[in-house]
Amino acid sequence: MDAASVFINGDRLMSRLMELARIGATPKGGVCRLALTDLDRQARECVIAWLQALGCTVRVDQIGNLFARRPGLDTTLPAVATGSHLDTQPTGGKFDGNYGVLAGLEVLQTLHEAGIRTRAALEVCVWTNEEGSRFVPVMMGSGVYCGAFSLEHALTARDAAGVSVSEALQAIGQAGTEPAAVTDGAPRFGAYFEAHIEQGPVLEDAGIPIGVVTGALGQRWYDIRVSGMEAHAGPTPMGLRRDALIPAAELIQKVRQIAMGEQPAGRGTVGHVSVFPNSRNVIPGQVQFSVDFRHPDETGLLRMDHALRAAAAALVSAGIAITVEQVVSFPPQAFDRGLVDLVREAARAQGYRSRDIVSGAGHDAVYVARTGPAGMIFIPCKDGISHNEIEDAEPENLIAGANVLLHAMLARAGT
Ligand SMILES: [Zn+2]
Repeated sequence: MDAASVFINGDRLMSRLMELARIGATPKGGVCRLALTDLDRQARECVIAWLQALGCTVRVDQIGNLFARRPGLDTTLPAVATGSHLDTQPTGGKFDGNYGVLAGLEVLQTLHEAGIRTRAALEVCVWTNEEGSRFVPVMMGSGVYCGAFSLEHALTARDAAGVSVSEALQAIGQAGTEPAAVTDGAPRFGAYFEAHIEQGPVLEDAGIPIGVVTGALGQRWYDIRVSGMEAHAGPTPMGLRRDALIPAAELIQKVRQIAMGEQPAGRGTVGHVSVFPNSRNVIPGQVQFSVDFRHPDETGLLRMDHALRAAAAALVSAGIAITVEQVVSFPPQAFDRGLVDLVREAARAQGYRSRDIVSGAGHDAVYVARTGPAGMIFIPCKDGISHNEIEDAEPENLIAGANVLLHAMLARAGT
């Protein structure tokens, strides 16, 4: 069959998405499949069986990343890869991660059935613990792969019950022996594409099925501590208080103002606040909160950082101390121009409308991009909602994204 006219099997893609979603299914229609649990093992074994049925060889590395390989005609070429993750949030959906893995499987099965050989080998990757819900750090498997942190750091991370990643990998039979980091000899890809639901409202709002992802926002996360003095809410007059919550509330407002000053792409969020002692008739003595800043370029992140520190300094007084600690930093990551163009061209050739988009969330592809050419394909999700059991996506969009993935991979791998 002519490679230009192949088309993925949409019914099979949808039925496999629903079959995989039964592993860890929640009563509200979502999925709870935490990393390296027995449910994760079941999902991995389900997908491995589908891939092996196509003749793929599967290797597992030391952090439990899976790589299923379909050989190419030219063994000297690096593989053209795709994939995502099978772990979910505790109240996760059916599509986040799972879609990218099954779209990759569908690409391989479509080529298998059409009898099309590619020059470069094709690989489907399953990255360990993308969500970071059970074990921190987030995007663990791809993070080790690209050298963002060490294998040792990842293997010794523990969940709330004290179980280490190393123990969890052993327990589910996914502790592989292949090198996990490119610096230890893990193979680099010739290209890596990842298909994913957008997890935001932009594509749905515009009625466009394909997002051509040009890169990912950089992120800086902070812990802010505001210290005053707790005292009785009755006997302490307003003028003699050291109420930590008042400057904290002002600073939280400032986070929004800082982000609004960096539109259209700047983001600022306070998602966690804790007040001590959190008692109705005690003036708060301590407040801690998180700040999450995102921006497409490093100078923008730096402006936001300076503005936050200046705002905090301005709120310090004789009775109030404020500390600003940066706890996480991800630089902005541009995707490979050539792969971005291939995604756009594949959408055009298949007759799908597309627009360029920047990912606001972290993805395995963002780490893989540090080791070689990477790109992503977004499809709309219902109301832009994910990390929620109501996460949903239209079959026609899921199918469109998988077709774009198929043709972008074919173009890169060659026939
Ligand atoms: Zn994901």
